[in-house]
Amino acid sequence: MAIKDLDWEHLDFDYRVTDKRYVADFKNGGWGEGVLTDDPMVQINECAGILQYCQEVFEGLKAYRTKDGRIVTFRSDLNAERMIDSAKRMEMPPFPKERFIEAVEEVVKANEDWVPPYGTGATLYLRPYMYATNPVIGVKPATEYQFRLFATPVGPYFKNGIKPITICVSDYDRAAPRGTGFIKAGLNYAMSLHANVTAHSRGFDENMFLDPATRTYVEETGGANFIFITKDGTLVTPKSDSILPSVTRRSVMYVAEHMLGMKVEHRPVRFDELKDFAEAGICGTAAVICPLGKIVSDKETICFPAGMEKMGPVTEKLYKTLTGIQDGEIEAPEGWIHYIK
Ligand SMILES: *Cc1c(COP(=O)(O)O)cnc(C)c1O
Repeated sequence: MAIKDLDWEHLDFDYRVTDKRYVADFKNGGWGEGVLTDDPMVQINECAGILQYCQEVFEGLKAYRTKDGRIVTFRSDLNAERMIDSAKRMEMPPFPKERFIEAVEEVVKANEDWVPPYGTGATLYLRPYMYATNPVIGVKPATEYQFRLFATPVGPYFKNGIKPITICVSDYDRAAPRGTGFIKAGLNYAMSLHANVTAHSRGFDENMFLDPATRTYVEETGGANFIFITKDGTLVTPKSDSILPSVTRRSVMYVAEHMLGMKVEHRPVRFDELKDFAEAGICGTAAVICPLGKIVSDKETICFPAGMEKMGPVTEKLYKTLTGIQDGEIEAPEGWIHYIK
């Protein structure tokens, strides 16, 4: 056993098949025992609930190789809990928290050689998900489900280092009021693809979605939460029932308040406040934190003072602290790091 011989420094954020994945089936009202399998293919009935009515939820987290050669995951308990919340909203049987954490552990151990070396910027991305497997033609929740978890090594989300990006205010909405915006479900992504392709074709890196009811407040991008820094150094993060509760955003808030001594506000953020902020960024597992240089709407262009070349100083401090914790260079708050090896 030895670490795979890949060009770790130049990995894309793409799927690559690895050795083992975890599979468990829900049948007759209960979850069966999970197994590790070599087979990356899924075979399901042509009328399976996932294929007809899109009953699916997922998660995303990473395993990291630390400086001292250990392998860790970061706050996987929060991913397990969030997947339970997502499943409930979709009328799916929650996959138990302890079993989720065990599945993560088993898959990382079984694919240990695929965990990228420390210092390459690459990580092992883990994708737990579950979906309806039995035939459903009349609209109703399925009765059988499959939980799967696979691992795939990925490079840093932004290849040329972290440069501020330019985003546009989308003409489309991401999530309805009282809808499914707060859960991690494939359906939220399916309907965001058109908005994404439209933004990219107009030369923007991402969308900013506004609250669909009034289009006055800031929600999030298609797959990351916003963070803002005021001129006097307060961290402000948007609050809304239709925003996905990002683990990264919650961790950044904790780091800011308890490790960096910053003031933190989690509250509704009006779009017309944005021009007064000193720094802005988006955060999520894939990219950790990516700075925003510019936000473009129909009426105005907002440019943040740090410019288009580098992260603002406060964003950078948050980024370095959080990645330092994940890499094992900075002592983590109690319970954040789970040692797998
Ligand atoms: C996954 C996701 C995020 C980021 O959440 P993390 O837990 O930080 O990875 C943000 N917004 C949406 C819509 C997401 O699906």
